[in-house]
Amino acid sequence: MGLHLNSSVAELPGIGGKAEKDLKNLGIISIRDLLWYVPFRYDDYSLSKPINELRSGDQVTLTGEVTSIHSRLAKNKKVTITEAEFETGEGSIKVIWFNQPYLEKQLKPGRRISLAGRIDHRFGMSLMNPIYEPEGKQIHTGRIVPVYGLSGSLTMRRLRAAIHTALNATDEMDDWIPKDILDKESFPVLSDAIANVHFPESQEVLNRSIERIKFGELFLHQLMFAEIREDRKKRSTHSIATDESYLKQFVAQLPFELTKAQRVSAWEIVQDISSVIPMNRLLEGDVGSGKTVVAAIAAAQVLKHGHSVAYLAPTEILAEQQYEVLSDTLKDFSVGLRTRTQKEDVKGSSVCIVGTHALLQEGIKIPNLALVIVDEQHRFGVKQRHALLERDPAPHLLSMTATPIPRSLALSLYGDLDLSILNELPKGRKPVATAIVEKSHQPGMWSHIKSQISYGRQLFVICPLIDPSDKLGSKSVTDAEKELKSGSLKEFSIEVLHGKLKTEEKQERMKSFQKGKTDVLISTTVVEVGVDIPNASTMVILGAERFGLAQLHQLRGRVGRSDVQSYCYLLPDTLSSISEKRLKAMVETTDGFKLAEVDLELRGPGNIFGNSQSGFPDFRLATVADVELMKKAHDWSDLILKDDPELENNPLLRQKVKTDFASVHLE
Ligand code: ADP
Ligand code: MG
Repeated sequence: MGLHLNSSVAELPGIGGKAEKDLKNLGIISIRDLLWYVPFRYDDYSLSKPINELRSGDQVTLTGEVTSIHSRLAKNKKVTITEAEFETGEGSIKVIWFNQPYLEKQLKPGRRISLAGRIDHRFGMSLMNPIYEPEGKQIHTGRIVPVYGLSGSLTMRRLRAAIHTALNATDEMDDWIPKDILDKESFPVLSDAIANVHFPESQEVLNRSIERIKFGELFLHQLMFAEIREDRKKRSTHSIATDESYLKQFVAQLPFELTKAQRVSAWEIVQDISSVIPMNRLLEGDVGSGKTVVAAIAAAQVLKHGHSVAYLAPTEILAEQQYEVLSDTLKDFSVGLRTRTQKEDVKGSSVCIVGTHALLQEGIKIPNLALVIVDEQHRFGVKQRHALLERDPAPHLLSMTATPIPRSLALSLYGDLDLSILNELPKGRKPVATAIVEKSHQPGMWSHIKSQISYGRQLFVICPLIDPSDKLGSKSVTDAEKELKSGSLKEFSIEVLHGKLKTEEKQERMKSFQKGKTDVLISTTVVEVGVDIPNASTMVILGAERFGLAQLHQLRGRVGRSDVQSYCYLLPDTLSSISEKRLKAMVETTDGFKLAEVDLELRGPGNIFGNSQSGFPDFRLATVADVELMKKAHDWSDLILKDDPELENNPLLRQKVKTDFASVHLE
């Protein structure tokens, strides 16, 4: 078959116009994209058992023939039930399908087929909702079967079959990992690894294939960072002499006393920027630990010295807020704002410009740029983060994150970067009291909230959606607004905030909440990062089970930012055992480090989701949990570059690093 990696998926049998579009929505256009679309889990149907040994809960494949089949409407008239008798030669078993009446036509008695599904005893011992295929085919049955994320009307059966056919093109996949590494680590070659990630021969081969793919991601990441690093070391920079008496004076006029951790970190930073080598430092501190002011101290030193500062924030809301904060903190200097829709221009040779990605995309010329601060750094791609640095002399880089990555991990992940850690919160902060609130307790909760608002405090209500949706059955901003305005909170002023609003509307509403003119802000996760409104002391999270732990932690970080007791109420719609564990962890601790550990445990390895939320770069397979592999990738990249710094002896690898680097996170 003439399938090539660059061919369109439309060349696959069964992928017509509609399916092509559905695949496009998943970011899949070529056969190559399809092959890199890895399963998010597997069902093991390799087991087959005699019928009399089947137990409830078993996942099995049974082969035989249907002897009778008929469909009927369930008592509630909402579900069709198709029931069949399945004869394997060793006996027969009942098979039940829901809402698939067409199976009656497809599964005519007499044909030999394999069925893969789970044994259930609720309706008498039966095989529930199995998938079928002709005996011996083994794409959907009789093996470890891949399960993929779907979109639109694309079915698992069709996608799986398409990927199975696409595997013919893996021969064209050149392995860019040097052979030496593959041999020493006993990794399979790329084409085998890809084939087995989709249709594994065994659990063991699957594990090794996943390891190999993860290693590939981490290894490339290391090489990219190494390139940036080497490049930066060669650059000259602005050396900003430390003016101790000025800094003392600046710190003394702040409205609060710095924590010890803030003082130490600020000192480390001002020392770094006095050097002739460009700084590359990560400031890590849990939500609310006071990273902004540390950055502001460094900025003040740079401005005082007659140089400029760029401050990058991931969202417009955050950029505007930080613009206000920095205008205030750096009141002796010129502070400007630059977002897609907002421009507060300032002139001069020593300015601080706060902005979003727009700052990068415009490639604007900031005079004497000596310090780039990247807030919530994980929200920016590798390439973006470095766009502002590609100038001569190179500016110093201060990245900031609330993601609690352990030091050893940060080092192997980002290479030789320096780390400052804010490991304490400002004095007087009380842990946010957190509770999961069941339906029956919600009236009590609202009356507590009312009394809080009456004391002059403000409330965040977070919803998973903007508009009502039948599918998800979860609270939307629109629903919540209607409900709260006419019910529990009708005597208070309520505003809504979400990504679909015009920028000016967002700004206005955010400002009015900031100034205390609005009591209640109903919002999506647009307020997730960085928003700082100390007077907001209560947060209600609707559909709380829909958020990941890292996200819940960030959201909750919007309250508890002053010395009053704050509250966070989690209102789940439904609870699975995993989401319950997540929410319980939220109740038990406010420590970002502990939550990150729980998150890892619950998510388990091999989960493709959630990396961007956890602050870890977006890999297909690798996660923060892959510490060992990360070390390996780090060591191998060092070793390879030592002998062959330009990768001249590894042309495939060199090419791969180049193309990947050019494509990462470039919108
Ligand atoms: P984050 O680390 O989450 O970015 P911020 O820098 O936004 O935190 O600080 C959170 C809040 O704490 C802000 O309102 C800030 O003014 C305040 N803050 C920062 N440092 C101190 C301190 N040492 N004492 C009291 N309040 C502080
Ligand atoms: Mg912040």
